[in-house]
Amino acid sequence: MTARTGGSFILDDPAPLVDALRADGWRVIGPREGDGAIVYDEIETAADLPRGFVDEQDGGHYRLRESGNDRWFDYVVGPQNWKKWLFPARQKLWSATRTADGFDIDPEKVEFPKTALFGTRACEIAAIEIQDRVFDNGDFADAGYRHRRENTLIVAVQCARSAPTCFCSSMNTGPRAEAGFDIALTELEDGGFFVECGSDRGAEILDRIDATAADAAAEEAAQAVTEQAAQMQMRSMPENIAGLLKDSLDHPRWAEVADRCLSCANCTLACPTCFCSDVEDVNDLSGDHTERWRVWDSCFSLDFSYIHGGAVRRSTLSRYRQWMTHKLSSWHDQFDTSGCVGCGRCITWCPVGIDITEEAAAFAAEPAEPADAGGLET
Ligand code: SF4
Ligand code: SF4
Repeated sequence: MTARTGGSFILDDPAPLVDALRADGWRVIGPREGDGAIVYDEIETAADLPRGFVDEQDGGHYRLRESGNDRWFDYVVGPQNWKKWLFPARQKLWSATRTADGFDIDPEKVEFPKTALFGTRACEIAAIEIQDRVFDNGDFADAGYRHRRENTLIVAVQCARSAPTCFCSSMNTGPRAEAGFDIALTELEDGGFFVECGSDRGAEILDRIDATAADAAAEEAAQAVTEQAAQMQMRSMPENIAGLLKDSLDHPRWAEVADRCLSCANCTLACPTCFCSDVEDVNDLSGDHTERWRVWDSCFSLDFSYIHGGAVRRSTLSRYRQWMTHKLSSWHDQFDTSGCVGCGRCITWCPVGIDITEEAAAFAAEPAEPADAGGLET
């Protein structure tokens, strides 16, 4: 078989693809079962994939259970996301060592082996493309991020079901990935996989595999899989939410949600697009050596908005408002896209079940007059 970009094929199971990736020198990171959830970690063979599992998700609720069948990908997204590989939670930026006449600075060299992200869902591809705009944006490109992305291959899995927390359809980010992948797999209703080739790098891998060309019936069956997933979605985001939030900065709803919010930051850590970070300086006792690290932070931390004299956002109300209005409104002004892809993680992993779609619907139901920014609670 010769796999030209844009071609489509049929595979019985994902094993030959995992083997071909590894034979071609790719480290394969994919879904695994760990601590009762789907997590992303290195896989060596397809046997490491969590076959026969399905997840239950709702506001503040997640359970992974055996599905009673041998399907490979019936679960959807779990607590982790791919940013932990492309934008690690802790990164050393540079170190400095005292010398006789000053100090030497040693920038940290990022070494990221060529890595296949296996099992990436449509909303997660959209999230990676959003982080590309943040970290690899021409004028202010992050060299480490760019290096990791250049060494990344995306093997998408098209969703066959949606969790009750998913709302990618209303964000136009899924459940079918149309682009942004090197290879995409759709697990068909009657077994087997419809395989799409999205790039020359994907074609090089598929050329190593013995797969048959797909016909029109297989393509139709693959489309039906993601249409079924789209029809399962119970939540959605109001279309005009960006403008609504701009006009709602002193809406009474913020106080209601702030009463429930714990400012725990779970939502921002689980979110695949959130990118707030802090820098930490780590000095040794001799004073001769220091290191600067970049670490994940969150707009829910009190100290995140600290400037001289104190934090700018002192209340939970102001921090929740910052998170939601940035994500759904001012992100458009900064990056020309929403900061939300509808993955639902912030709903599932919020310990008190705060639901961003429910909050958005509340603003849509009772639109406010434009705020007087001078009187806003901090
Ligand atoms: S805001 Fe929530 S639903 Fe949107 S991308 Fe982040 S975690 Fe997913
Ligand atoms: S919305 Fe939920 S997850 Fe986010 S900070 Fe508040 S309590 Fe934590």
